[in-house]
Amino acid sequence: MTQTLRPQVGILGAGQLALMLAQAAKPLGVQILCAGQPGDCAEQVAQVVPVDLDDAAAVAAFAAQVDLVTIESENIHAAVLHGLNLYPNARAVGIAQDRLPEKRFFQSCGIGVAPFASVDSLQDLERAIESTGLPAILKTRRMGYDGKGQVRLYRPEDAAAAWDEIGGVPCILEGMLRFDAEVSLIAARSRIGQIVFYPLIQNHHRDGILRTSIAPYAHAESLQGQAEAHMTKVLEELDYVGVLAIEFFVQGEMLLANEMAPRVHNSGHWTIEGSKTSQFENHLRAILGMELGSTESRPTVMLNCIGTMPLVAETEQFPTLSRHDYGKEARPGRKVGHLTFPASASADIAEWQRLLET
Ligand code: AMP
Repeated sequence: MTQTLRPQVGILGAGQLALMLAQAAKPLGVQILCAGQPGDCAEQVAQVVPVDLDDAAAVAAFAAQVDLVTIESENIHAAVLHGLNLYPNARAVGIAQDRLPEKRFFQSCGIGVAPFASVDSLQDLERAIESTGLPAILKTRRMGYDGKGQVRLYRPEDAAAAWDEIGGVPCILEGMLRFDAEVSLIAARSRIGQIVFYPLIQNHHRDGILRTSIAPYAHAESLQGQAEAHMTKVLEELDYVGVLAIEFFVQGEMLLANEMAPRVHNSGHWTIEGSKTSQFENHLRAILGMELGSTESRPTVMLNCIGTMPLVAETEQFPTLSRHDYGKEARPGRKVGHLTFPASASADIAEWQRLLET
C-alpha cells in the first residue's frame, strides 16, 4: 500500500508563484499543498484545495494539514495570518502589505525613501502636496500591485479628482522621483540566519507592469554592496526567513527603497535558468531549515508575457530561449508566462522585446 505523505509546505495561494515553488519542490522531495481555487495554475503540479483566504478559520484548518505555511502574495489580511506556523513571519508580511509602515520601517533601518506623507482625507492630500511637492503619486496603502491603486498629480487643482479616483481609501502621497534606473535585490535568509544574495536586477516597467528584468544590473559596482547592506539590515530587523525582494530607485550612487515583497518575486524568475539555485528552491530551503544553495549566476534576461503567450512555433526557433507558460487564460494586462534568455543572446532578446511590446 502506498503511504500518502503529509504535505510539508502549505502555500496560501495557487497562482504562478505557487506553481514555480511547487516545481522547485519536486527535486527536493518536498510535498506541497496549495490553498486556492479550482482552475488555479498551480494545479498543474500540486494539489490545490479550495480555501477562502479571507476566512481565518478556513486558513487555520488548511494550516493544520501541513507542517508550515508560506505565501505567494502579501495581500492577505494580517488577522488571518496570526497564529500560523508562517514563514516569513506575520510581522514582516504586515509591514510589507501597507505602504505607510513599510516606508517608516525603511527609514528606521536608515534606508532612504521618496518624500511621502500619509493621506486619509482630501484635506490631508492638500497638505501632503505642500510637503512632497509636485508631481507626485497618490498610492493606496494596501492591495496595490502592477501599478494598480495609483493616481498621478501634476497640479494642486488635481487633488479633488485624484482623491475621488482613488476611492477615498487610506493612501500615501509620494513625491515623483527622477531616477537613473529601477533595480531589485533578491535575497534569502534561513532559519539559522544564513543569508545569500542574487546580483542586482534592472527592471523595466510599462503601464506599471514589469516587462523586462536584466541580471546583473550593468552599473551595479558599489550599489551591490549598498543594496546588500540594506537587505541585511531589513532581514535581521524582521527576523525574516525565506526569500525577500526589495525594489530600489537608483539616483546616482544612491539607492532609495520603493517597496519590498515578502515572497519570491517576478524580477527573480530568471534565476530558474540563470543561477545555480533558483529563488524558488532557496525559498523552500530557507523555510524548511535547509542549507541555502549557491546564488552563482550568469547574465540572464527575463521577458514577461502580458495578455497572451507567443506561439510555440515562434519560440521554438530560438534554441537558447526557455519558455514558461503558466497555463492561464489570455486576458489583457494579465501575466500569463515569461521567457528567459542568456544575456549573450542579445539579438534574440531585442527581437522578442519588440514582438512582446507590439
Ligand atoms: P510601485 O507599485 O510603487 O512599484 O509603482 C509602480 C511603478 O511606478 C514603479 O515601478 C515606478 O516605475 C513608478 N513609481 C512608483 N513610485 C514612484 C516615485 N516615487 N517616483 C517615480 N516613479 C515612481
